[in-house]
Amino acid sequence: MNDYIEIRDLVVFANHGVLKEEKTMGQKFVISLRLYADMTNAICTDDLDDAVNYAEICEFVTEFTKKNRCKLIEAAADGIARSILVCYPLINRVDITLHKPWAPIGLPLSSVAVNLCRRRSKAYISIGSNMGNRKRNLDFAVERLKFTEECDVKKVSSYIDTKPVGFTHQDDFLNACIEIETILKPDELLKLLNEIENEAGRTREIHWGPRTLDLDIILYGDTVVCTDTLTIPHKEMSCREFVLAPLCEIAPYAYDPVSGDYVINMLDKLRKAQIK
Ligand code: ATP
Ligand code: CA
Ligand code: CA
Repeated sequence: MNDYIEIRDLVVFANHGVLKEEKTMGQKFVISLRLYADMTNAICTDDLDDAVNYAEICEFVTEFTKKNRCKLIEAAADGIARSILVCYPLINRVDITLHKPWAPIGLPLSSVAVNLCRRRSKAYISIGSNMGNRKRNLDFAVERLKFTEECDVKKVSSYIDTKPVGFTHQDDFLNACIEIETILKPDELLKLLNEIENEAGRTREIHWGPRTLDLDIILYGDTVVCTDTLTIPHKEMSCREFVLAPLCEIAPYAYDPVSGDYVINMLDKLRKAQIK
């Protein structure tokens, strides 16, 4: 979806900056925005209630930029873009340019600016528990994500009983999958999931051992991540029925961006391989 609203050169007098004078006296900032949104409904109804109200957004951005003081224009621009995504669900991507034309660097320049792009992404989280009240632990994870303003819980699969894999001398698991839309980046999402696990009393004694709550990122849009702490798509997804079965229930045509395989096909292949 490439439709966007463009707001050019909104001037706001605010107090971002490192220097004391910048903080006390303030200065001019100039903000340009591209707001990517699905306009299908607005075009159909021709009704402002179905549209992104750009007058309202200009006021929102002005107020936000004045109220939240940052040292760096990078941080200020990031805050503006994220707050738009949190408050305006119709907008799925924000490109922002934040100019600081009076940057006090002691040399003549017409302006200095940062450009950022922030977007909403669809992600699939696998959740599992085999300690304590398993259903309550999964419910806790869902509720906790619902109460996180950077995440929207879109779908939750049914909860399924599964046999443990890897370390098999432990109780059965209750597993599910959740579809979220989030403005968190993959590493920020992992940090949030780790916090939720800790709040549910998760400890890590045995690898693949019993746990109150395990939250794994299975897919994050088309994004591929391979770092020391994060691999997306989850490296075991194609060989785990307890991941694929609930995922297939809510998103059969989600796909692994590396192999191109649909979830429904991965599950089918896995089940056929298990029969052999
Ligand atoms: P598995 O990842 O095989 O399901 P596990 O869930 O039992 O095993 P954990 O102890 O929960 O493993 O996590 C170990 C580490 O895996 C985490 O600290 C995290 O940095 C890393 N990790 C890598 N990729 C992912 C991912 N896609 N989702 C969650 N954690 C991940
Ligand atoms: Ca896991
Ligand atoms: Ca995990």
